[in-house]
Amino acid sequence: MTEVVAKTNLLDLDREGMERFFAETLGEKRFRAHQVMKWIYHQHVTDFAQMTDVGKALRAKLEAHAEIRPPSVQFDKPSADGTHKWLLGMDSGNAIETVFIPDKGRGTLCVSSQVGCGLNCQFCSTATQGFNRNLSTAEIIGQVWVASKHLGNKTHLHRKLTNVVMMGMGEPLLNFDNVVRAMNLMRDDLGFGLANKRVTLSTAGLVPMIDRLGEESDVSLAVSLHAPNDELRTQLVPLNKKYPIAELMAACVRYLQRRKKGESITFEYTLMKGVNDTPEIARQLARLMKQFCNQVQYSEAGKVNLIPFNPFPGTRFERSDEATIRAFQKILLDAGVLTMVRRTRGDDIDAACGQLKGQVMDRTRRQAEFKRKLEEKGVSDAA
Ligand code: SF4
Repeated sequence: MTEVVAKTNLLDLDREGMERFFAETLGEKRFRAHQVMKWIYHQHVTDFAQMTDVGKALRAKLEAHAEIRPPSVQFDKPSADGTHKWLLGMDSGNAIETVFIPDKGRGTLCVSSQVGCGLNCQFCSTATQGFNRNLSTAEIIGQVWVASKHLGNKTHLHRKLTNVVMMGMGEPLLNFDNVVRAMNLMRDDLGFGLANKRVTLSTAGLVPMIDRLGEESDVSLAVSLHAPNDELRTQLVPLNKKYPIAELMAACVRYLQRRKKGESITFEYTLMKGVNDTPEIARQLARLMKQFCNQVQYSEAGKVNLIPFNPFPGTRFERSDEATIRAFQKILLDAGVLTMVRRTRGDDIDAACGQLKGQVMDRTRRQAEFKRKLEEKGVSDAA
């Protein structure tokens, strides 16, 4: 009986992995991998037969051992304001959402790292779905590949996709290896060729993994802060119980100390009516940011991104009103803290921040598994 060998999905491999695969599995020169990467990421080609500058013999080997399998598009939904959302099928009923947000001179893609999320942030729509599983590298970079192809993005000629934020479903630092490999491909010239600062990873605050990210990658960091004191933050982001604000901010200082002078961290702050939007809380936040900037010794080391809460069915929170948002921002600006208010985009297709949902199947069993894994990592109290 002939043994059926599973084909390697080339989207799972970054440059180093591709070179190793070509050398060790195909018995080819490592640089041949570069030709194939250009076809995949610059030309959006998935059929080896169309790779015309790749020799026939190599194409035959590739057919036998490899495939290029991006996630399937279940539907794509453009919004009236130019925002675009794709629902991408993963496996057995699971699906995730990927959103493209065009703005003046830039196009940002919001990418997911897990099917669902187990961190249970109280104001987050994804959290209501529970956790199913981590996405593979192919499923993460596949989101960028699908959007890039649909948008007609040309990496070196006509770039529509200029930024990627790992801010969709899931906590990216709990899927570290796959996320780092995918971010390598986003920044590689043979991949999507984005500058380091144009790829941003957003975390709820897994302190040890922030340190590891600082050692292994050069991407921009965003932190989901949402409150300036531990009492309130633990209510909103349960992970704070394990990694309180002082430890989180210290990890952020260490992150920037490893980077070039002049780089910054964005602190995401979702404004919820009567919860975290009072003038006193704004003053606390301003003090926290000033302290952070002083520690880094750079006055613009911390930027605050205020996000008016996007309500979703079943939530107990409400969006702060416009006057409160402006007053909150003014307190921060007057204290010398760089503060932006994120314009709400894609409301009509539920693509605004915190509204990504997708479809998460079989979450009960996986949720238990996820909690066990968190316990192994010492963050059991947070889940
Ligand atoms: S805000 Fe992020 S980390 Fe928190 S539950 Fe939602 S997806 Fe998970």
